Amino acid sequence: MIEVKSVGMNYGNTKALDEVSFVAEKGKILGLLGPNGAGKTTLMRILTSYLYPSKGTATIDGHDVTEEPLAARRLIGYMPETVPLYDDMLVDEYLIFIGSARGLGGEQLRQRLRWVKENCGLGPIWKHTISEISKGFRQRAGLAQALIHDPQVLILDEPMTGLDPLQIIGIRELMHRLAQDKTVIFSTHILQEVEALADRIVILNNGRMIAEGTRHEITQMATKGEKLTLVVKADENDVRSTLENEEVVDELRFVGSEGNYIKFFVSADTGKPLVSRLNEVIDKKGWSIRELKREQASLEEAFIWLLSRDQKKDRR
Ligand code: ADP
Repeated sequence: MIEVKSVGMNYGNTKALDEVSFVAEKGKILGLLGPNGAGKTTLMRILTSYLYPSKGTATIDGHDVTEEPLAARRLIGYMPETVPLYDDMLVDEYLIFIGSARGLGGEQLRQRLRWVKENCGLGPIWKHTISEISKGFRQRAGLAQALIHDPQVLILDEPMTGLDPLQIIGIRELMHRLAQDKTVIFSTHILQEVEALADRIVILNNGRMIAEGTRHEITQMATKGEKLTLVVKADENDVRSTLENEEVVDELRFVGSEGNYIKFFVSADTGKPLVSRLNEVIDKKGWSIRELKREQASLEEAFIWLLSRDQKKDRR
């Protein structure tokens, strides 16, 4: 549905985006994750044809954003970081205005107004002046204007900003429902948001794409070597001294005991046959094994690792 092709963007001497390419599929939520200044907003502005890229392009359902910006825009609902709400208007007036600008009228417009009122939770402030409503309601009115024409593609810049935890849960549920037949791209600098929402993640840093994939694929990139949890019924000191003397073991950490069982964290550098060697040792010693499980880095660990690797590249 969305294809980003080698997009680059310069603001004077600032390289805001450099060779960014990825695909976002229908029925999936793609999370754009990156620290402030990474280039997330710039990329969303290019996708919505508010900005013309310095290099490369993107297509929305086959429409090139630089060559057919209006056709591309028709397919998109966009919620910018700061939604341009008209403070003097009532909430319903504002949404009628946006709906009309999107070409809706008559029963179709009324039906969409009812839909956004209910699904974005705007009932309590439907007849309020926009200047009076709270930050959370402003955010939801912003989401309603992006959804009023029932777009195929939703592009949401930091959609959870200003929402309280209950409202965040409500918007997450709505996004999951919407993603069943739409393509959703949202940006955030908050890891928990991508963990909770995204089917695929694109990580940007200093305008560069430093990782792309599912959560599992990204954490896999950062899990260097082999990391295992071992739970065995054995004497703690025996396990410790045996494994400490094993050439394949680079790190051994006692985690705790559970009844007769003791738990260790064991790791080895890439390329070492840790699992097979451990199995041999356990077998030879006759320890009763309850668990030998591969550990994965958390998304947070992976994110920090990817960022520091990128910064090292910068310094070189
Ligand atoms: P993010 O949304 O990830 O915080 P942005 O896309 O807003 O990142 O910004 C990326 C980089 O481009 C930053 O270094 C920012 O200062 C710069 N930038 C963004 N907009 C402009 C602009 N209009 N003029 C000059 N520099 C800009």
